[in-house]
Amino acid sequence: MQARHILVINCGSSSIKFALIHEAHSQTFLSGEAQNLGTYDAELHWRRGPEHDSLMIPNADHRAALSQLLPIVQGACGGKLHGIGHRVVHGGERFSAARRIDPQVLAEIKATAHLAPLHNPANLLGIEATLKQFPNLPQVAVFDTAFHHSLPEYAFRYALPEQLYRDHGIRRYGFHGTSHRYVSARAAEMSNLPIEDSSWLSAHLGNGCSTCAVVNGQSRDTSMGLTPLEGVVMGTRSGDVDPNLHSHLAMALGWDIEKIDYMLNHDAGLLGLSGLSNDMRTLEQAHHDGHEGATLAIEVFCYRLAKSLAAMSCALPRLDGLIFTGGIGENSPLIRAKTVAHLRLLNLQLDDEANERYIRGLSGTIHAYGHPRVLVIPTNEERQIALDTLQLLH
Ligand code: ADP
Repeated sequence: MQARHILVINCGSSSIKFALIHEAHSQTFLSGEAQNLGTYDAELHWRRGPEHDSLMIPNADHRAALSQLLPIVQGACGGKLHGIGHRVVHGGERFSAARRIDPQVLAEIKATAHLAPLHNPANLLGIEATLKQFPNLPQVAVFDTAFHHSLPEYAFRYALPEQLYRDHGIRRYGFHGTSHRYVSARAAEMSNLPIEDSSWLSAHLGNGCSTCAVVNGQSRDTSMGLTPLEGVVMGTRSGDVDPNLHSHLAMALGWDIEKIDYMLNHDAGLLGLSGLSNDMRTLEQAHHDGHEGATLAIEVFCYRLAKSLAAMSCALPRLDGLIFTGGIGENSPLIRAKTVAHLRLLNLQLDDEANERYIRGLSGTIHAYGHPRVLVIPTNEERQIALDTLQLLH
């Protein structure tokens, strides 16, 4: 059988990120993004190997952008597109694995939209536009939450009245599942351990950040909850705060719920702490230049991350390794070193030279001899979505 190509699509409210994945190659064939959709500045840009290209598509909506995208994608794969995989952020309790999209699955994704009002409606917009644009191509939805379906109830329930869970689905769901699943499988492969008998801590550190305990290929606990705001410090998201913060800000400052929500999601995290930036590269540079806010943001980020990893270790029977991934995890020796320094009780220690070496897409182990494994593994959510799509279409 000929090797197959899958188009992976990740739709935001005004953007479409895409990647063309070839099942036999780990390198992405073609990738790009349509940005500012629905505005005069709408633009499509893409990269194929070393080549970059872009096209202005004034006022294009999702459907119009997809119609521009198709010839580029078909051109890149010689007209042999096999199917489309969509990233869907929230699958609620309904979806424990990827599903082929049909009218019933579409209706079920719609019924879950209230759990992720910022993300799922945008994902749906993309799916519906793609179904209209490519009616003959099989399409699959891959959910960020699905990997965390294996959480035991004592890990996914909040200590809240039962009726809130039963009638309204208020529980911890977890996100970044596709990434935690991909890197833990890679970690097992790299360590010559069967994934069915292995035990990992995983730290996905991008703009959003989360930790996960993966036992025998299943998620057993994770730091994000009902929404992607819970857990560790992120670029602009606060992570955990005292749940009474809302009422305190309402009473003390007269803030309404929208203002508090906006602050916690967009003005907090590394940006709020540093008063400078949500971007770790900028903060590291400023820290070296003596910026106190940047230094504090980095210290809080690493300490809170280490605390979360230590908490996740409660879910492990033993530790086969700690995995760093995401833009920060894959590229920042400083953050890895500062985080691991807080985890002495797990006996973790880095080899400084190896820690400096594994950046810019390199994967490898960075622990000191005689200590538990610490691995740097570039995540590849697009590839995992493509593999899930292929498996379902088989
Ligand atoms: P997203 O969650 O949007 O996919 P990424 O996984 O690309 O984001 O991660 C973005 C984060 O990675 C940013 O904070 C960025 O500064 C950080 N990052 C990328 N390269 C480096 C680097 N060399 N050193 C430190 N941080 C880095």
